Amino acid sequence: MPPPTCLRVALPVPLPRLFDYLPPAGTGAGPGDVGRRVRVPFGPRELVGGGAAPGEPEPGVEPRPALGFPDPEPLFSGELLDSLRWLARYTHAPLGEVLATALPAPLRNGEPLPDTHAWAWHLTKAGATGLGGLRRGGRPRALAERLAAGPCGEDQLDLELEDWREAARALARRGYAERVAVPARAAAPAPRPGPEPNPEQQEAIAAITTARGFTPLLLEGVTGSGKTEVYLHAIAQCLARGRQALVLVPEIGLTPQTLERFRARLGVPVHALHSGLADGERARVWTAAWRGEARVIVGTRSAGFTPLPEAGLIVVDEEHDGSYKQQDGIRYPARDLALARGKALDGPVLLGSATPSLETLHNARAGRYRHLRLRRRAGEARPPAVRIVDVRKRPLQAGLAPETLQMMEAALRDGGQVLVFKNRRGYAPVLLCHDCGWSAHCPRCSTQVQATPMTVHAGGGRLVCHHCGHRQPRPQACPACASLALQPQGVGTERLEELLAERFSAWPVLRIDRGTTARRDGLQKLLAELGDAPGILVGTQILAKGHDLPNLTRVVVVGVDEGLFSSDFRGGEKLAQLLVQVAGRAGRARKPGEVWWQTHHPDHPLLHALISGGYDSFATAELELRRAAAFPPFAHLALMRAEAARAEAAGAFLRAARQRLEQAAQAGGHAVELHGPVTAPMARRAGHYRMQLLLSATQRRALHACLDAALPALYALPEARRTRWSLDVDPQDL
Ligand code: ADP
Ligand code: ZN
Ligand code: ZN
Repeated sequence: MPPPTCLRVALPVPLPRLFDYLPPAGTGAGPGDVGRRVRVPFGPRELVGGGAAPGEPEPGVEPRPALGFPDPEPLFSGELLDSLRWLARYTHAPLGEVLATALPAPLRNGEPLPDTHAWAWHLTKAGATGLGGLRRGGRPRALAERLAAGPCGEDQLDLELEDWREAARALARRGYAERVAVPARAAAPAPRPGPEPNPEQQEAIAAITTARGFTPLLLEGVTGSGKTEVYLHAIAQCLARGRQALVLVPEIGLTPQTLERFRARLGVPVHALHSGLADGERARVWTAAWRGEARVIVGTRSAGFTPLPEAGLIVVDEEHDGSYKQQDGIRYPARDLALARGKALDGPVLLGSATPSLETLHNARAGRYRHLRLRRRAGEARPPAVRIVDVRKRPLQAGLAPETLQMMEAALRDGGQVLVFKNRRGYAPVLLCHDCGWSAHCPRCSTQVQATPMTVHAGGGRLVCHHCGHRQPRPQACPACASLALQPQGVGTERLEELLAERFSAWPVLRIDRGTTARRDGLQKLLAELGDAPGILVGTQILAKGHDLPNLTRVVVVGVDEGLFSSDFRGGEKLAQLLVQVAGRAGRARKPGEVWWQTHHPDHPLLHALISGGYDSFATAELELRRAAAFPPFAHLALMRAEAARAEAAGAFLRAARQRLEQAAQAGGHAVELHGPVTAPMARRAGHYRMQLLLSATQRRALHACLDAALPALYALPEARRTRWSLDVDPQDL
């Protein structure tokens, strides 16, 4: 049989098909090209795609020759390629777009694989003798002294010394220090032993390390129960077997603290992958993993695409966290990708959480996942006591009840720290004219019923839309009646900070939200400033997880009610998770903790379930509601969204889509229900009208079969050209 004449290529274009090319001049097409990057001409452009399969051109089509292969061998093969094909089927996205999403930007653009050795600094002879001449207390002197103790990797310097790079350049100019390439595996400190695991931890560690074949495990344990210790032991054993480990952490969980703990304990270099890294650095880590040099990779959502030629374990920490779901482009769920990879790898996948998602809990209770539990806090910490504060008819100051303020003062006098949690950034959620009732709204956004209010920021000086980012200066006078009686209404974190600083002027008040922690190390610096001294932290959910604050003894949740009546079907789940996670911040060390929930609805069943039976009993009740209402995990949803500058265009596309989907469901006998099209809850965002169509099915297979059958026709609809549309399988909110 003659060899196949062309290569079918998956390209990063929004078309559900492969494209045929002749092999680059001087090569042939073969099975070895599957998963290989290939540069091809596409119209007037040049694209980088991935070989999908060797094949024959369709009759009458004259394929163009590909331009070349950037690599001698496939970047995608074996398990990773299988998993990405799974992801393409799951998201119904073109394979070429999935392959592109899996690559760091430089590799996606066709750049060659980067060098992956690590860099270290060492002192030269001249440096060793000249060190004493450097100014005492200066950064170059501090660095030189550190290097006098031995060469040091750049990763390690990042952790040990502030602004060391500039100091290193100064030393290099004098010929005192040199930068040298070292093998990635070499640069790591000797492992440091941790605490002896308690019996529950031992049981969990044994279950993970003795698992054979694909084994999903749920490790459920409250904050501070020692889950990370379990991960560390399981990873250490995985390394001892000569295997790689991948750890996914939520966006806000990947702190220098976390990385330092992993590095110090494991005694191998730990590679971090997150959105704060430069593109080149991400490509370097990705490639180091592909070459098998990186043995432990800790990263956020996109690290789920890391190649693991010698995989031994995948961990998903805080598996319920919303940041695992990509919300634009290809809407992939990193946790489910991790599970799919574990299946393709035939290995263990460990999901950890204090508040597992209802999907995961349902799977564990049904016996599909092994359910491991840590019921007690490790070490000496005790669980915090929860207290409901009924604020009905109470005079509030800065949104806080008198007894809450008293409690805070007592805790501060006692030398403790208090966290006040409020899930609203900015100064005030609304700017209102007291004379005529006018309020500031975003000119470009609205819900189904009204334009959305602009949030007051910068101490009252600026208006910002939290939906589209639109900003404008605060008007001096009311645009409707020219009155000067414009008043910020309600309380955001900025105003809370201001009011608390006034009320508790003897103590520092620190605001922690996206505004004050825009820089990656911003939070770290703020917390270091405060140290263990008594003081108040005011923050949004950034504070819910990941930072050890041993002296934090009281937590106050101000805005419980905002979450109680959410229209989103996951609203209750998200609120319960948040309340439990925030509570977990209190009393991490020896000092006992207390958590105060302020609410106008002290009898709400959600709060009662949480207090009387903890997250477990909340979850049991909530799962019953979901079953009764046929919502996930008892049904499977997909949301088709469309937006356009003209409202009619979005609706027209979705009506046509609905018709095709109905036909497909009927023809194939797939039991799928269609709801809509309806206006999206955010009916207009950044000036675009938004509509949506919901698909629901009790069998996941039916949902996918129906989409598979109908989607190709949807791409071809004339209405599709007049709107921007997307598909979200298992949407986080509707
Ligand atoms: P989690 O990840 O569940 O929040 P960690 O693993 O971070 O919990 O543990 C919380 C704290 O308890 C850490 O300071 C850790 O060092 C300590 N710890 C964990 N396990 C033990 C143990 N078996 N004995 C003593 N201290 C422990
Ligand atoms: Zn007015
Ligand atoms: Zn807006």
